[in-house]
Amino acid sequence: MSAEPSATAEVERLRAEIGYHNQRYYGDDAPEISDADYDLLVRRLRALEDAHPELVVEDSPTQQVGAGALSAAFAPVVHRSPMTSLDNAMTVEELRAWGERVARALPDHDVPLVCELKIDGLAMSVRYERGVYTQAATRGDGRVGEDVTANVATVRALPERLGDGAPEVLEVRGEVYMPRASFEALNERMAEAGKPRFANPRNAGAGSLRQKDPAVTASRQLSMWCYQLGEVVGGPDFATHHETFEYLAGLGFPVNPEIRVVCSLAEVEAFCAHWQEHRHDLPYEIDGVVVKLDDLSQRAALGFTSRAPRWAIAVKFPPEERTTLLRDIQVSVGRTGRATPFAVLEPVFVGGSTVGMATLHNEDQVRLKDVRPGDTVIVRKAGDVIPEVVAPVLALRPPGSQPWEFPHRCPCPVQSELVRAEGEADTRCVEVACPFQLEQRIIYFASRQAMDIEGLGDQRVAQMCEAGLLTDPADLYALTEERLLTLPKFASVSAANLMAAIRGSVSRPLPKLLTALGIRGLGPSASESLSRAFGTLDAIMNAGEHDLATTPGVGPVIAASIHRWFAVDANRAFIDKLRAAGVDFGRVEVSRLPQNLVGKAIVVTGTLDGFSREQAEAAIKDRGGKSPGSVSAKTTAVVVGADPGASKLNKATDLGVPVLDEAGFRHLLDTGELPG
Ligand code: NAD
Repeated sequence: MSAEPSATAEVERLRAEIGYHNQRYYGDDAPEISDADYDLLVRRLRALEDAHPELVVEDSPTQQVGAGALSAAFAPVVHRSPMTSLDNAMTVEELRAWGERVARALPDHDVPLVCELKIDGLAMSVRYERGVYTQAATRGDGRVGEDVTANVATVRALPERLGDGAPEVLEVRGEVYMPRASFEALNERMAEAGKPRFANPRNAGAGSLRQKDPAVTASRQLSMWCYQLGEVVGGPDFATHHETFEYLAGLGFPVNPEIRVVCSLAEVEAFCAHWQEHRHDLPYEIDGVVVKLDDLSQRAALGFTSRAPRWAIAVKFPPEERTTLLRDIQVSVGRTGRATPFAVLEPVFVGGSTVGMATLHNEDQVRLKDVRPGDTVIVRKAGDVIPEVVAPVLALRPPGSQPWEFPHRCPCPVQSELVRAEGEADTRCVEVACPFQLEQRIIYFASRQAMDIEGLGDQRVAQMCEAGLLTDPADLYALTEERLLTLPKFASVSAANLMAAIRGSVSRPLPKLLTALGIRGLGPSASESLSRAFGTLDAIMNAGEHDLATTPGVGPVIAASIHRWFAVDANRAFIDKLRAAGVDFGRVEVSRLPQNLVGKAIVVTGTLDGFSREQAEAAIKDRGGKSPGSVSAKTTAVVVGADPGASKLNKATDLGVPVLDEAGFRHLLDTGELPG
């Protein structure tokens, strides 16, 4: 029976679309859609072919190793044995289904497995003859690749020559990749030169490798992990995959240190779960885990399909990049009047949640990325990091599109002027009466780090401002339950609770009150130091700028900002209203511990026995120190517990920052000095 015309047409359409994207990705190193969106196209085609086997043809993308046209800039290289792709598992169920297929093919056998990181780079075949580096080739269509010998010669991780005992011919396969640090440095150079940034290390790496001038490749600092033997003449025989790794490492090839041999699928699942969570601790990008049979005779029994081995599977992590439509660029106004542009996106599922908005930071960032409403953009959400618009897909830009201009008017009903001061990155709404600023000031005043008023969320604040109940945060203390009940959607219980929370906030400690004032630059930690130094709000208000500036953790910029703020009549009136409302101006609940860590920055990573992460950070801050989330040259020490973040540890080693164990940390807390 032949397939219905609609299926035939859809199959044709998908093949053409996938073929086009293969060319953009493999041929031009300039993909137009994210890998996740591409994978969806391939899956749709595969599902249709499964339902209509009569439509399967040899040159369908599901049957082939994906490739665009080989570049004429490089000579073709015929691979002695094909370079294949990998079948993918997107879910645990798909991984288990693969496990069952393997078990069916090898009944009554133990099947040891090797788990490897799936490096997000470019597959490479590297050839040595009589111990000398002779050739490197890309995967191409799996049969014929491109000769990139001169370019790969610049990859310093690869040995130029092998020592004694090297076989007559040794072909090694692996992934060339761009380490994150090289990628960031490259993008900084691109930005300095006013050129568009690369979207991700994979595309930057592939583009850097397929350069006519190897000097360009050299400047991009690529690296490589080797994960497979190709043709070997005159070498030893191996029974297992892990022995080949030992052999490769012994010859000086870079072999990834995270490779593990395991005995069960449950261990594979645990390996995958671990790396899905810790992928950002690595100094290079991975997009999944590759699981392979360890026993080479078992591999031979399973064999290959036309495009991939049956003895391996790639477990893909959920995507962290997607392409979507940038519907609009709008501006939000914060409590200090800062106007921040943000992208309104066609909602897209990425990095584990649906993203509909992403900050664009400031005018220069928008200009640098040159994103415009109507563009298709790459959106990235990695780990805990906030979603980011990485870059536009220029090939899909609608004709006639114009660069985005920062608006001159605030989007609030007053439509006040937006001003960017000379030399500043931020644009600001300078109108004190701007209702958007007021709303944000009140939200901040009530937030946990400030007056901590439970039940006063954004919507409630907006509602009260709209009803004209609040002209500044101090008006909260003049509210009554009866007045709240006149607002829509306010039940008596929630009104009573909110009133109790507002009343309870009058006795917050001074650092919280000081933070709640919303003075630009004055956050919780400087508020804490000022409270400790001056004791009451009145003392801070009347202090000289110099005395403020010399308080630990404050400095001249914040001191000037505080001084300016208290000089404004409206702010003084606001303070008087707070005083009249009974807000406590002099409660200092500060630590009595010695301030022996002032000026020191101590980063904590991994799990400690005697402290939770919060307790360790509090112990540092209570002694006047700081506990930032990342390591820099200014870091005093890095405290390392069990299972630490590799990137923090590596950076500490690179920068020569002292690394302390828990005992060393206790010594530092007690004495303020690093252990001798
Ligand atoms: P794949 O990336 O899913 O898996 C095969 C490849 O994994 C191998 O060729 C090898 O290069 C790599 N790999 C990394 N670590 C490995 C390890 N430890 N052991 C073995 N192999 C390892 O398949 P593919 O055929 O290379 O290409 C498909 C990928 O390319 C998908 O991620 C797809 O989304 C992407 N792609 C994207 C577009 C686009 O337009 N965005 C177009 C084509 C392909």
